[in-house]
Amino acid sequence: MIQTHTIAPIATIQTPFKEKFGIPRQPNLVAAQGRLRFTNPKLSWDAIKGIEQHSHLWLLFLFDQHLDKDWKPQVRPPRLGGNEKVGVLATRSTFRPNNIGMSVVRLLKVESENNQPVLLVEGVDLLDGTPIVDIKPYIPYADSIECASSEMAESAPEALLNVVLSPLAEQKVETHHLSDTFVTLVKKVLEQDPRPTYKRTKVDDKIYGILLDEYNITWRVINCDPNPSSENTPIT
Ligand code: SAM
Repeated sequence: MIQTHTIAPIATIQTPFKEKFGIPRQPNLVAAQGRLRFTNPKLSWDAIKGIEQHSHLWLLFLFDQHLDKDWKPQVRPPRLGGNEKVGVLATRSTFRPNNIGMSVVRLLKVESENNQPVLLVEGVDLLDGTPIVDIKPYIPYADSIECASSEMAESAPEALLNVVLSPLAEQKVETHHLSDTFVTLVKKVLEQDPRPTYKRTKVDDKIYGILLDEYNITWRVINCDPNPSSENTPIT
């Protein structure tokens, strides 16, 4: 008989990513920060004693935006151009049995908020409000495998676009007193070219918007000259 087991989230994570569009495809591609707050009352200071001895943590979470969506045994990963089909279990697809995701992130510090712990982490690829079902320390001797390889995803995706701020965006950075960290986050997110795979590296008239924190960042691709000194993605 197949056993079933119910799992309940233990925490939620606050991230700058207010919509799925633009979220990096894996952790640590962008130094986006997240704040983990426990929702299970049994988990507080006692449960995280010693956690600062680990530089990185595994976050196991639910792809909660897909809980009502079906999954298929085969998927077309964007990494393979979006045309080739491979087995769902050979990928990190977000449409999968049990909707469980896993991301390794850097633990920056433990803060206190209303006397409750908040874990500040960096490198997240999660939507704001994603339910976390478990947190485990990243243990280098076991989790980092020197001879590991992945023909499907050999290395981190390279920056595809050179991002420049339009004069209007420069002005908004000034008037809203936006931090260098936030501007870097915006640039790093756009460098990955969040558009659908078939549009990547193509010029496109459309003006796109991405919600990051409380800002709607609008941008477009005006040329795809690989010369990094050319301006191809002004942010307005
Ligand atoms: N590192 C994780 C893994 O391998 O399980 C996630 C990889 S998955 C390819 C990353 C994508 O998940 C993001 O680009 C975003 O589109 C999507 N995503 C993030 N949070 C989500 C959520 N709560 N529900 C559904 N999709 C989400």
